[in-house]
Amino acid sequence: MTFRPVLRPGAPLLRRDATHLQVGTSPGIVFADRPGLVQLLHLIDGARDVDRLSAIARTAIPELTAPVVEVVTELRSIGVVLDATRWSGPQRRGLDAEARHLDMVGGDPDRLVRRPGFGLAFHGDPGSRALIEVTRSILAASGVTRHDSPDPDLLVIVSCGEPARAVFESPAHLGLAHLPVVIDEDRVRIGPLVRPGRTPCVSCHDRHRTDWDRAWPALLHQLGRHTAIMTPPGLSALTSHAAGVELAAEVLAQVDGGPARTIGRCLVVGPRHDERTTRPLAFHHSCGCDLLRAA
Ligand SMILES: [Zn+2]
Repeated sequence: MTFRPVLRPGAPLLRRDATHLQVGTSPGIVFADRPGLVQLLHLIDGARDVDRLSAIARTAIPELTAPVVEVVTELRSIGVVLDATRWSGPQRRGLDAEARHLDMVGGDPDRLVRRPGFGLAFHGDPGSRALIEVTRSILAASGVTRHDSPDPDLLVIVSCGEPARAVFESPAHLGLAHLPVVIDEDRVRIGPLVRPGRTPCVSCHDRHRTDWDRAWPALLHQLGRHTAIMTPPGLSALTSHAAGVELAAEVLAQVDGGPARTIGRCLVVGPRHDERTTRPLAFHHSCGCDLLRAA
């Protein structure tokens, strides 16, 4: 596919002085003006490729003496124009904004190809509804739209308070990647992201906790029961939305194959919206989950 030039995203084209143009203001890229250049820049729209632009310029911009290919290649080398072919294509429908972002930060828009087909499922209790809705909305805007897949690639399990452990049995048994999220008093704990047999699991977490809190198994036994009483959490809207952003980021890391912060770790958001804490979680020697890993 040929190069389809487009002006730098989100940056206005401005005249700096009689002989210079500028694109953007942060701080902006300054470049020399030349006869016909502004007219050419007006034709650059990300839809026309270099051949098409050259054909139009030959008749419409006679004052432009240098070949169009030379001009746009030079502008590309200084970041004034980018190549729109990197942002679109059959596998990137609805991902234009994400692709523009990745391209601008030096990433590879090809990383996004798994997003449309990625199957996600949410398991949540009534107290987790608001956090799940925020997360769904962010993921949908990021191009991950299959949120109720019957055969998911990742199951996100959100609960208000520690959930009954039975909820993790089926995904662990099926080898299904799962991400526990607990709304815990005034904060949100995300992780560990469990890839069964490959990363530390929730049972590893419980066994570590039992090592220093002998009553943990007795407490675990009572989790998720209707007899347990609980006041709704003290989570601000800001912290809830911040947790949604971090949760969505962990899901996208799993989708895109990027580094996840919750493998062998928990990420805690709150109590303030800008507070983040991570806690490491290792395999526990008595947990059978890594037998698969050793096999
Ligand atoms: Zn384990």
